[in-house]
Amino acid sequence: MSTTDSRTEDVRWDLSDLCAGADDARAGWTELVARAADLASRYRGTIASLGAPELRALLDEADELSQDLSRLQVYTFLRLSMDATDVEANDLTTIGRDRSAQIENDLLFLALEWIALDDDAAEGLLASAELVPYAHKLCVEREEKPYVLSEAEEQALNARRPVVSAWQSLHDRQISTLEVPFDEGEGERPHTVSELLSLLYRPDRAVRLGAIEALYEGLEPHADVLAACYDALVGDRLSTDRLRGFADPMQPTNMNNELDGATVEAMMTATEEAYGIGRKWFDAKAGLLGLDRLALADQYAPIGEARKFSWPEAVEVVDTSFGNFSPRLSEIFKACLDAGHVDARPRPGKAPGAYCTAVSKQILPYVLMNFTDRLRDVSTLAHEFGHATHNVLALEQQTWRSHRCGIPMAEVPSTFAQSLADDYLLDNESDAVTRAALAADRLENSFAAIYRQTVLARFERRAYGVRMEGLSLGVERLNELWIEENTKYYGDSLTLPEGYAYGWSYIPHFIHVRFYTYAYSFAQLVALLLYRRYREDPEAFTPKYLDFLGAGGAASPADLVAPFGLDLRSTDTWRGAFAELDAMRVNAETLSAA
Ligand SMILES: [Zn+2]
Repeated sequence: MSTTDSRTEDVRWDLSDLCAGADDARAGWTELVARAADLASRYRGTIASLGAPELRALLDEADELSQDLSRLQVYTFLRLSMDATDVEANDLTTIGRDRSAQIENDLLFLALEWIALDDDAAEGLLASAELVPYAHKLCVEREEKPYVLSEAEEQALNARRPVVSAWQSLHDRQISTLEVPFDEGEGERPHTVSELLSLLYRPDRAVRLGAIEALYEGLEPHADVLAACYDALVGDRLSTDRLRGFADPMQPTNMNNELDGATVEAMMTATEEAYGIGRKWFDAKAGLLGLDRLALADQYAPIGEARKFSWPEAVEVVDTSFGNFSPRLSEIFKACLDAGHVDARPRPGKAPGAYCTAVSKQILPYVLMNFTDRLRDVSTLAHEFGHATHNVLALEQQTWRSHRCGIPMAEVPSTFAQSLADDYLLDNESDAVTRAALAADRLENSFAAIYRQTVLARFERRAYGVRMEGLSLGVERLNELWIEENTKYYGDSLTLPEGYAYGWSYIPHFIHVRFYTYAYSFAQLVALLLYRRYREDPEAFTPKYLDFLGAGGAASPADLVAPFGLDLRSTDTWRGAFAELDAMRVNAETLSAA
């Protein structure tokens, strides 16, 4: 496929870089299982006796194996994304799940024996030149050592997993099966939670107000069960924390994110100080919509209608805005398009949303989109190619194991890429309504990522605090905490509907991964800080930024951003990001008023 073809309307994946077909995939799985068993038979029980060159050889072999595993997993996953009802793809998914579990089990000894090494032996190995490409990830693995229990205790904890996940399934099921009767104007019909939430972006105010009221009315009768699920999970996590010796309920998440408590606290404090930027926008937006005061349902209401963007236009925007930053980024973008690694349009059976998935050092990443000619689809294309360019550059320079980073850093290049495309559009778009809509969208997306996710994390912190004092998390108490934390953000800049007290009850992150949400605030704010540095001095910034992309996950977040002069533990650093956000607010107000 050539670039000219990618400008036609029907851009689809070509999976031949991954695998020749289902038979090839099945044969691949069989071969991988044998390879993993062979590797384990040669190395299991030997880690403590390996010198640096032998350990390096083992890690290289495991890295190759992981990439072949990734290639087959991605093939299966993409087949399913193209058509959820494809029987062959579903069969491959089942095979893949079983084989992956088998392979992971066979390779588990590597991590366990590495953690079990005594500190002197590990430090000696880590100081060797041979292990440099793996050193950071190996260090991070060992940080868990003080919190790992005896084998028998770990097994007992593992055996309880199905019961813990039963609470999560119960919560998921309550929410996914919830249907609320609502009339959008074409007669009453049942609406799911996500359908009701999507109505908040509608231009018709009556629909928005009605949808939000219906949502909370629908949740209220289930709140008791939803609270019981949350209470059980928080209680369980806290007692496991006590066994492992974690002092703070945020510590396991922070360790996963490679962030210390001081960094997260500095970020959240600066965010709370800057809630006023959000309130100023809500006041201005009320004026733009001709209201005295916004209701919660107006928070994401469109101010004007942006024009449509064709796929070729979107490709042009991303290509040019990336190329203006660095030709290398637009080269990667075009290489992925030319290789048939983008699937652009929605089709029946195709997965919703958008994602980018890395494959291996040899194969370019794949991107899924559901492009429907909307302005926000252009931003999404840039976002996913922020991920893709990050993947490609990191995989050029790092091992497979070292290229990946956690959400706090992984979402920085995607957010940054969106800013490149958005700014290019703001400079070049001739339709004033589209420019205003873009500036408002961009601001409100940032608020949703920065402010709302921080409110969620603060609510969670308080819920764990209450539970640690020996009090239960019932509906009344959760309602109260929820309103208190939300009021800190919204103040009286908008009216919260009566039922909003149940706003905590449907959020899946609380149930599945505690304190998951602050990573999004973190990534947005770091992207804003980097973008500010870029605008101040593009020439000095660009090569450093390309190095940052190339570093992947081979260093901690603090070390990755140190070359830009950012000290993440300092509240002042984070305040710089809010100066940038406030400038975006002023711009959105100016463009909307014009
Ligand atoms: Zn992303």
